[in-house]
Amino acid sequence: MIITLKKNAPKHDVDKLIDKFEGMNLHVTMIQGDNYNVFGLVGDTSVVDEKSVMANPIVYNVQRVAQPYKLANRMFHPEDTIVDVNGIQIGGKKIAMIAGPCSVEGEEQICRIAKEVKAVGADMLRGGAYKPRTSPYAFQGMGTAGIMAMVKARQETGLPIVSELMSAEHLDEFVENVDIIQIGARNMQNFDLLKAVGKTKKPILLKRGMSATIQEWIMAAEYIMSEGNPNVIFCERGIRTFETYTRNTLDLSVVPIIKERTHLPIIIDPSHAAGDYKLIESLSLAAIAAGADGLIIEVHDDPENAWSDGAQSLKPKRYAELVEKGKAIAKVIGREL
Ligand code: PEP
Ligand code: MN
Repeated sequence: MIITLKKNAPKHDVDKLIDKFEGMNLHVTMIQGDNYNVFGLVGDTSVVDEKSVMANPIVYNVQRVAQPYKLANRMFHPEDTIVDVNGIQIGGKKIAMIAGPCSVEGEEQICRIAKEVKAVGADMLRGGAYKPRTSPYAFQGMGTAGIMAMVKARQETGLPIVSELMSAEHLDEFVENVDIIQIGARNMQNFDLLKAVGKTKKPILLKRGMSATIQEWIMAAEYIMSEGNPNVIFCERGIRTFETYTRNTLDLSVVPIIKERTHLPIIIDPSHAAGDYKLIESLSLAAIAAGADGLIIEVHDDPENAWSDGAQSLKPKRYAELVEKGKAIAKVIGREL
């Protein structure tokens, strides 16, 4: 961290600031210039809050050199983290394919779709049982019955299951039954929920908040990891921009950025980004080419009558075509699908 002091800062105040930093176990180096005095702070500066340093009247500027995240930071963990989900790896050579309906609509429906997506190349099954809907009058999810229907689909197909946890109230149910706990975009900064899932060892699919910066997103992962759970998978699902043609804007630049800055896997959700089934294939192929470790895609065999997100759901046949094209792209970049 580099701190620039105002010209003519009183020595007494400068010494007080140095004492404060040294009391935080930081090493302070002073560079005296003609116009400015500059401090270099070395050590674990994640404990320093830039805003409160700026509040000191002798401080002119504060610049962070190190990132505020430690556990997610690739600098301290150069090798890729591979998250193991019941023997299926996310972050290795194989691109993980997660597919299924937005909402579980019943045991028969989820078991049928699970078999359909498995037959055409899915490695895992998605299905929401607790749904974060914009309107309180929209279908809110089947709750426990939906989770149990997902469990049945796993028994019938062997596919690990992914579902969204909206409240820590249901954490035990998820730890017991679900293979990957999804934290949805709307809860990315629900810090109590992040801490709660951090206390488990379950793989956590951490969606990017719809208005979250990359740094805020990585700090959300840091919350989970700082509680002791290293199994975090990032999921980009589009962010809010001025554009209204698509539901959100898919930010694929995060794939190389997350890979450079962190050691954690990242997957792409083109469904919630696009909001339109016709765009899913292009975005998925681009995501594979960009180096994503997986895709989570909404698939429904009767999208017109789906209880949620039908417009962005692919039919199994179209999903199968996407998988075939994805295999070709994966091969070009030295991966498998
Ligand atoms: C979902 O996966 O169905 C969902 C609601 O996702 P998001 O949190 O990305 O909107
Ligand atoms: Mn959905």
